[in-house]
Amino acid sequence: MRVLLSSLVLSLGLAMSAAVLAQDAETGVQVRKPKLMVVPESMVNRSAAQQYVQMKEQAASRGLLNRDAPQVRRVRAIAERLIAHGRRFNSGAADWAWEVNVIDSPAINAFCLPGGKIMVFRGIVERLQLTDDELAAVIGHEIAHALLQHGRARMSEAVLKNVGVNLAALYFGLGDLGATALAQAAQVAITLPYSRSHETDADLVGIELAARAGYDPRAAGSLWRKMAASSGGQPPQFLSTHPGHANRIREIEANLPKVLPLYEKAAAK
Ligand SMILES: [Zn+2]
Repeated sequence: MRVLLSSLVLSLGLAMSAAVLAQDAETGVQVRKPKLMVVPESMVNRSAAQQYVQMKEQAASRGLLNRDAPQVRRVRAIAERLIAHGRRFNSGAADWAWEVNVIDSPAINAFCLPGGKIMVFRGIVERLQLTDDELAAVIGHEIAHALLQHGRARMSEAVLKNVGVNLAALYFGLGDLGATALAQAAQVAITLPYSRSHETDADLVGIELAARAGYDPRAAGSLWRKMAASSGGQPPQFLSTHPGHANRIREIEANLPKVLPLYEKAAAK
């Protein structure tokens, strides 16, 4: 098994190849390097892009896509400034077909699918009355999941869990079994909550992206406080895929000294 696994990884040429998380010696956050990624990034991104098209079509058919032009402009302007710093955490991200859209839904939700497909829900912007800095914290966090390839990691995990049946199919070039496994894995990757370590890493990379783009990274703390306060009644959808905000504010605040100098530098420009 181990031999087959390593030859699989070699044959896909993927093992640890995404370890691009270079940081300044003095500034910037530290995050984990990706683990075993048996599903090719191109496949993950293609699958995500297909799902994104479906979501957009469904929203558009109900007249719910990008309905509020000033809001769409605001969200896109913030996202673009963050995306500009993405290559620091993923060298391929500059070539992604990034997209930013707003769904006219009251849900408190936002996400960025693998490959840079961002969706922001009107509810998170309006019901939490997000400032630009807080909106940058939300979008930065979601972009970080994509840059760090957390969706791909979850898909790879899901495929490897069915290893007995599917590894051979993967190895011999994704036959029917492999394709089925992949479709299931894609579903898993997009619908299940992220792990705690993925959440922490997305928080840290999110505040660094915000800081470098000139948004106050301290807003991540106020964002999560607003999120916690809003979950008094019905918990926001966002929290169901983003578990545990008890420690996250503390963790974010402990890491602010690493990114505040970047913010001050960016804000001074
Ligand atoms: Zn998250």
